[in-house]
Amino acid sequence: MSSNILNKPQTQVQPKIWLSSPHMGGQELDFIHQAFESNWIAPLGPNVDGFEKDICSFTNSANAAVLTSGTAAIHLALVLAGVKEGDEVLCQSFTFSASANPITYCGATPVFIDSEKKTWNICPEALEVAIKDRLRKGRKPAAVIYVHLYGMPALVDEIQTICDNYGIPLIEDAAEALGSEYKGEKCGTFGFLSALSFNGNKIITTSGGGALLGRDAGLIAKARFLATQARDQAPHYQHSHIGYNYRMSNISAGIGRGQMLVLKDRVSQRRANFERYRSFFAGYEGIQVQTEPDESFFSNRWLSCILVDPNKNHGVTREIIRLALEEKNIEARPLWKPMHMQPVFSGCAYYGSGVSEQLFEQGLCLPSGSNLEEEDFTRIFEVLKNILN
Ligand SMILES: *Cc1c(COP(=O)(O)O)cnc(C)c1O
Repeated sequence: MSSNILNKPQTQVQPKIWLSSPHMGGQELDFIHQAFESNWIAPLGPNVDGFEKDICSFTNSANAAVLTSGTAAIHLALVLAGVKEGDEVLCQSFTFSASANPITYCGATPVFIDSEKKTWNICPEALEVAIKDRLRKGRKPAAVIYVHLYGMPALVDEIQTICDNYGIPLIEDAAEALGSEYKGEKCGTFGFLSALSFNGNKIITTSGGGALLGRDAGLIAKARFLATQARDQAPHYQHSHIGYNYRMSNISAGIGRGQMLVLKDRVSQRRANFERYRSFFAGYEGIQVQTEPDESFFSNRWLSCILVDPNKNHGVTREIIRLALEEKNIEARPLWKPMHMQPVFSGCAYYGSGVSEQLFEQGLCLPSGSNLEEEDFTRIFEVLKNILN
């Protein structure tokens, strides 16, 4: 038996190229060492305060609370918007499930809204149609959640104007957009409250974490209170609200402080990845890269995304490209499957005209890590050339 295994021809598997993997800057461990030396292992402490300050100075946000995840941040944003059992919340359909799941944690129901073609994010026209229709049915939406997917800023002004007109709190899911800008302002500073994520695949990571940002200091103070089990001021444990255990630890925040030192570089590196793909695909028909509509939009290029039209390139679909990359141990992933197409949300209302369905059908995310090496790009472009020529 064992000799059989030994005699098997050894196939040389090349190392995996990931879609987006953690990329440490080098100083993360210094902050963790400081925490160990002062025995500040338990929740809160100087790294938590420092990380929050760093986030505020980078984004120019007035207040930030760091949390265990971006999902927790969205959940607290909904709680603070007053979303409760039986409510409806309008949510961008073309997103990752973590934008929508917290709506159900509140006992509320998501109503999904299609995207527009310019930024691939929530469509202002569809949003307004939905609001009017829900109002007609006597169901005023309790909140709106929009997303800057793949780092591309949404049509921020148009969406904010609609929500202001109808008096609906707007929650910004900037989980994929730290470092992106709209009209020179950082994503994470628009709307009633904003969520960031430091999950392992995001532009910077704390191995897992998130943050809630907002203009209103009182709301962020309340978020910190709710995130630490909602303990009233008393010598004994006293509670008059339902709380959550959502606060980031001082160790994770140490990683975050180290990552903040290299965030600007990470944005440049990811934007450089995108430029490489853009110039490569310029030579091919039927492949469209995700484009910034005009100077108002600055994407962190968290992921480099393409749309593949088989009618314009001799029948090559995005799935053919994805499988060819997979065969060479290179990870690529279809653009996110819209929430209104997900089995778990099949009963939810949806307003749209097929934009997000088509993005899902034709779209592909390519390896986009800030730690990609020259030889990784050589391997990736080799596969793409073979398929497209
Ligand atoms: C990653 C992500 C989240 C959730 O963040 P976690 O930190 O993983 O909980 C939410 N929304 C979007 C669009 C994301 O990509």
